[in-house]
Amino acid sequence: MSRRAVLGAAVAALAGVALAPGIRLIEVARAADGADGAGGAAGPAAGKGADPKVRWGLLIDTTRCAEGCTACVDACNAENGLGTPSRPTDARWIRKVEIRELRTGRQASVPVMCQHCAEPPCVDVCPTGASFKRADGIVLVDRHSCIGCRYCMMACPYKARSFVHEPLHDQKPDVPRGKGCVESCTLCVHRIDRGEKLTACAEACSAAGHGAILFGDLNDPGSEISRRVREVRSRQLRADLNLDPGVRYEGL
Ligand code: SF4
Ligand code: SF4
Repeated sequence: MSRRAVLGAAVAALAGVALAPGIRLIEVARAADGADGAGGAAGPAAGKGADPKVRWGLLIDTTRCAEGCTACVDACNAENGLGTPSRPTDARWIRKVEIRELRTGRQASVPVMCQHCAEPPCVDVCPTGASFKRADGIVLVDRHSCIGCRYCMMACPYKARSFVHEPLHDQKPDVPRGKGCVESCTLCVHRIDRGEKLTACAEACSAAGHGAILFGDLNDPGSEISRRVREVRSRQLRADLNLDPGVRYEGL
């Protein structure tokens, strides 16, 4: 039996095990068309799976992102039940990175999260298929089949993923998590699958008066994010890696 088959059998045996007391994990929404090997249940509102015509993404205007502001980070933590991360090993789905250009001295404050790569190395290296990309471009981790090997963390050039070291309490029903699993930004997939139009970070950033984070469908030429990507100069982080991230940055 191949290593993948052995792991698959082990995963099948583990499926359905509750990973935290009193918490029954639900299957994370997966693409229904199976085009990327991610067949499975879709979100409640979608009912029919992720739409392959859509590519969800973010455009982050670093000229509007305020130094020291953590509105998006705080909203992400609250939305996803991450609590208040304090130790270096605590899960973080957004990190605020302060950068300074040596030549000009220009500074920028940059929220960095999973970049939802079109060619995600985290998916390529995952031995169980737990890391997967939905048909609409969202990259997720299936908590049922993640064995916590952390290969994906090593493969991710953006250091976007966290490993859950401790037992979890007070989880959000929409955001299943578990000790021993790897996790990262889901682009608020639970909201998208309910038909909502905003991620928690974009909503909080607007509410804080900055409006630095724009969420939308990069494939829809009529969407605001597509219009902005056409009209302003934006870039993908480490575009030279050819991973084609769905998160773009303006002002860098
Ligand atoms: Fe995977 Fe990292 Fe790309 Fe997210 S940013 S899709 S975790 S490689
Ligand atoms: Fe967190 Fe949602 Fe923003 Fe991703 S999109 S960083 S999950 S708040």
